[in-house]
Amino acid sequence: MNALPSPGSPGSPGSAGATVDADFVRRWLDTATASVDRESERLTELDSPIGDADHGSNMRRGFIAARGAVEQEPPGTPGGVLVLVGRTLISTVGGASGPLYGTLLRKAGKELGDEEAVGADRLRDALRAGVDGVAQLGGASAGDKTMLDALLPAVDALTGALDAGGSLAEGLAAAASAADEGAVATTPLRARKGRASYLGERSVGHQDPGATSAALLVDALAATARDGAA
Ligand code: ADP
Ligand code: MG
Repeated sequence: MNALPSPGSPGSPGSAGATVDADFVRRWLDTATASVDRESERLTELDSPIGDADHGSNMRRGFIAARGAVEQEPPGTPGGVLVLVGRTLISTVGGASGPLYGTLLRKAGKELGDEEAVGADRLRDALRAGVDGVAQLGGASAGDKTMLDALLPAVDALTGALDAGGSLAEGLAAAASAADEGAVATTPLRARKGRASYLGERSVGHQDPGATSAALLVDALAATARDGAA
């Protein structure tokens, strides 16, 4: 457990304390939806040479629907918001990324259970459970040129930063950098899973769209913690 007090928030239970609540996850969803909307064309362009040019529109449709579902009936717990977002992605996103991101968020939400607020360590455990769920469902591992190439380094970096005594905001900033680097590092890889794998060697030299969108989602998480800590 990390017992360092979180600076600038007197009276808070510290960085291992309860800092992630339903409002935090809703703010993440707003930021993530805006980011996916803004980057939608780029995600679709990345999905053109090694896919079917729908990743941006898939993500945009899914996140706008998820935000609508959460606004309509806002769950009172962080786990509840994540489960609702995951369920909505599964039902609105055709394509591989819907069930995969849906599983990521549903598993993370279930791991948080019914608690009204959790600390950084619990969020890390939830993200780890979600990423494990993606690996299990899609059968991919590190280096297969998928969203996991952004998600796995992100969770590892978060873990490392928290173990070193960092705050939630510091841990998520490290996770965001690792996810961004992981997404860029998919370019020279040959795809071994998903639609891009049908191209074999011809998938080399293109950045993976799913790793790119995964980095956007982790960036949004870091921005949420940073803004909340200000
Ligand atoms: P589709 O490939 O069905 O058109 P999308 O274009 O929305 O779906 O998403 C493609 C992305 O999904 C890929 O760039 C990759 O990151 C991710 N992906 C595909 N298959 C897998 C898998 N088996 N495991 C993990 N991620 C995958
Ligand atoms: Mg596609």
